[in-house]
This record gives sequence, structure tokens and C-alpha cells, in this order.
Amino acid sequence: MKNTLNATHLVKTYGPVRALNDVSITVESGSSVAIMGPSGSGKSTLLHALSGILRPDSGTVNLGPIDVTGLSDTERSKLRRDRFGFVFQDGQLVDELTAAENVAFPLLLNGWKRGRALKEAEHWLKRLGLDGMGNRKPGEMSGGQAQRVAIARALVHKPSVVFADEPTGALDQATGHEVMQILTTVCQMSGASLIVVTHDLEVAKWCNRLVEIRDAIIHDDRKLGVGR
Ligand code: ADP
Repeated sequence: MKNTLNATHLVKTYGPVRALNDVSITVESGSSVAIMGPSGSGKSTLLHALSGILRPDSGTVNLGPIDVTGLSDTERSKLRRDRFGFVFQDGQLVDELTAAENVAFPLLLNGWKRGRALKEAEHWLKRLGLDGMGNRKPGEMSGGQAQRVAIARALVHKPSVVFADEPTGALDQATGHEVMQILTTVCQMSGASLIVVTHDLEVAKWCNRLVEIRDAIIHDDRKLGVGR
């Protein structure tokens, strides 16, 4: 499939530490995968290798027909901007920009005119239940609202894959569930695959599949019951 993410035999070492030890994983187009495992087991390294943030020592990552590991740094940056969306624990919104400007940012990077980008951003904010909040700065919003802005920003350019690193880590449980519900729903509506790193099994349960990493290898990989 065009948007299937396929990683084979990934190895990444940091000095004497093997952070990934021959990891292979396929994420089907439009599916959602939670990655769990103890601290230091290699989750972030895997997320970074899959999303082209780091290049593994060996092994390959393909997005459909594109060999991500074979791209230059500049080409990988462009691929990340065009095809991937990112949601982080603390949102990582730009405090000086309004919610709408934050959401419009990826479109501006991709060459959209400001007016059109802001209009599209407002459309996404509305879709995520933030109608009328486009002019607020992140500091004027609750943690859950700010995380919805971050989700809008991750999806506004219609990415093939959304990577979320502890997206609910800074939220209380109820807000975290709301954010996961929204994240999984909008990814599904957009046809984007979703890869979530989390410590929380309740968060993982929003995904179709659970991959457990231990000591730099995939220890378990199973389907989860869908539908909440
Ligand atoms: P997790 O996300 O599961 O906590 P990581 O992927 O961050 O695990 O780390 C896996 C291993 O690689 C750990 O032993 C960690 O200390 C090591 N590691 C990760 N990033 C670096 C780095 N930039 N430099 C040195 N060691 C690193």
C-alpha cells in the first residue's frame, strides 16, 4: 500500500548501548499502533527511526515505495514536513503565536499563502471543538485544549502517518481519554496511520494494536479489541 510504513532489521547503538536490536515492524496504512515498554527499552529510538528523525545504523524504513533511510537529511526533512505529523507530550506549541497560527504553521512551511492557511487552520480548530478559540495564545488555553491545537497542527497538512510521543503524559486521566478519542477519530477520518508511544495501557487501548518493546527488541505484538 502507498502509505504502509515498513521497517526491517533496525539496529541503533549509542556507544555500548544497543537501543534497537534488529527490530522489524509493519504499520498498515490507516491503522493505529501503541508502543509500550519500560523506560530505556528503545521506544523513542524506534519512533525516531520510523519518522526519519534519526537514521539507524542498519536496517531500512520504507513509506510505501520510498526508502526513507536512503534519503539525504534534507530529503528526510522534507518528507517529514509533507507526509508525517507529530504530537508531543507538552504540545510544543509556539507560545507567541495564536492557536490558528500554530495550526497554520505546517501549511506555511509547505508554501501556502497566509490567508488560505489560516482559514484551513480555523476549519481544523472547529473540527476539534475549538471554534472561536483561534485567536488565543497557548498560555490562555487549558492543557487539553492546547493538546487539541497540537493535534490539529499534526493533521492539517493531511499526513500519511501521525507520530505521538506520550500525547497524554501531561494531562489528567479524563482529559487524556478525551484527547485520545479525538486523536484516534481524526486520524481515522483523515486516513492517517497513528503510532503512539505511551506508558499507559488505558491510552494504548485506543489503538488497534499493541507492540511491546523490551531490551531493544519487540517482545510482544498483538491486536487489541477496537471500539469504545
Ligand atoms: P525509551 O523511549 O523506551 O525510554 P530510548 O529509546 O529513549 O528508550 O532509549 C533506549 C536506550 O538508548 C537507553 O538505554 C538510552 O539511555 C539510550 N539512548 C537513547 N538516546 C540516547 C542518546 N542520544 N545518547 C546516548 N544514549 C541514548
